[in-house]
Amino acid sequence: MDELRRLLWFPPYNKSIRAMAGNFIQDELDALKRQGLYRKLRRVEGEQGATLLLDGREVLNFSSNNYLGLANHPALKKAAKEAIDHYGVGAVASRLISGNMALHEELEEKIAGLKGTEAALVFNSGFQANVGIIPTLAGEGDVIFSDALNHASLIDGCRLSRAKTVVYPHCDLARLEDELKRAPATGRKLIVTETLFSMDGDEAPLAELVELAERHGALIMVDEAHATGVLGPNGAGVVAKVGVGDRILVQMGTLGKALGGFGAYVAGSHALRELLINRCRSFIFTTSLPPPVLAAAIAAVDLLYQEPQRRLALWHNCRALREGLRKLRFCLGQSESQILPLIIGDSQKCMTFSERLLEKGVFAQGIRPPTVPEGTSRLRITLMATHTHEHLHRALRTFEEVRGEF
Ligand SMILES: *Cc1c(COP(=O)(O)O)cnc(C)c1O
Repeated sequence: MDELRRLLWFPPYNKSIRAMAGNFIQDELDALKRQGLYRKLRRVEGEQGATLLLDGREVLNFSSNNYLGLANHPALKKAAKEAIDHYGVGAVASRLISGNMALHEELEEKIAGLKGTEAALVFNSGFQANVGIIPTLAGEGDVIFSDALNHASLIDGCRLSRAKTVVYPHCDLARLEDELKRAPATGRKLIVTETLFSMDGDEAPLAELVELAERHGALIMVDEAHATGVLGPNGAGVVAKVGVGDRILVQMGTLGKALGGFGAYVAGSHALRELLINRCRSFIFTTSLPPPVLAAAIAAVDLLYQEPQRRLALWHNCRALREGLRKLRFCLGQSESQILPLIIGDSQKCMTFSERLLEKGVFAQGIRPPTVPEGTSRLRITLMATHTHEHLHRALRTFEEVRGEF
């Protein structure tokens, strides 16, 4: 019998909970399975590297956001260990009570320096940042314009804000302009977009977006989760690459992807930082990041300057795998980045493709709705600086073999 069914029918639940919950929980799980949307966890043992010990087998890892390979960099490990010895393991209070440690402020200065902003503020995670920042900036009577492919945390931030939210088709500036014209003259207008899109690997047209926003009196918030550490000068992101930092109200990004650790940041003006400290509920009502995590993030930002060869290696690998897959006539969308969406379409077929790859030792996660729109299920292939030529070659061969089976 199914693991979950067992959990439901045996203790610790008593009889009346089993009677009440048993039906709807199991019904929902069965429905997910019928739709090919059922998910389960896989287990990684050992380090998050270019290869991975996954459910007991070594596989090539094309499913991680450890783009620069920093998650197991000796400098980050050393910094985290030293921080534990010096500060202990936890901050044990929120920032506004007694949890604001020297390391939080040191990291914030480093991030502001990298982004070229007046100030920065660290958040516990990207998800927490987004669900807190958006309601701080917009509320009832305001209108938010949100790209159709924005991350779930941005969508939830819009919902929590109680502002009217207009979802515009992915990167469609003409439609966005129509919507901006239609918005009421009163209230704020806030455009929210990712810079490097997490599931498609394409970039928002920031230069044009900034022009459009200024013409219509709208503010912009960008999410650089996948661009931070990877794109722009020293990995400062797409905003720095395009050179529009002074025209964007909020730049948020995460520390748990290319930077290899955990956490998130907001970069912007001093006033923005102060407003968030005073008003942002997901900043105020939570225990702050622990010392080893902060120290690792500080070391990671330093490495962005010290080891530019990591970005070069990543770009080299991206080009090689992209060209190899295109030669094999796989459909990769618009991506020019370290995120390659190999579009399959049907959810069930996508998951079978992913399973077959995994059996042959290549881990490329299948992504289905609701993470991506209906009919666009895909393998989300992500590159790392630490993939070798042999890794890429083996992956290409395996993709070709598995496609042959379909
Ligand atoms: C991963 C991600 C987040 C969430 O960041 P976490 O630190 O993992 O919570 C937010 N936005 C985007 C675009 C992401 O890809």
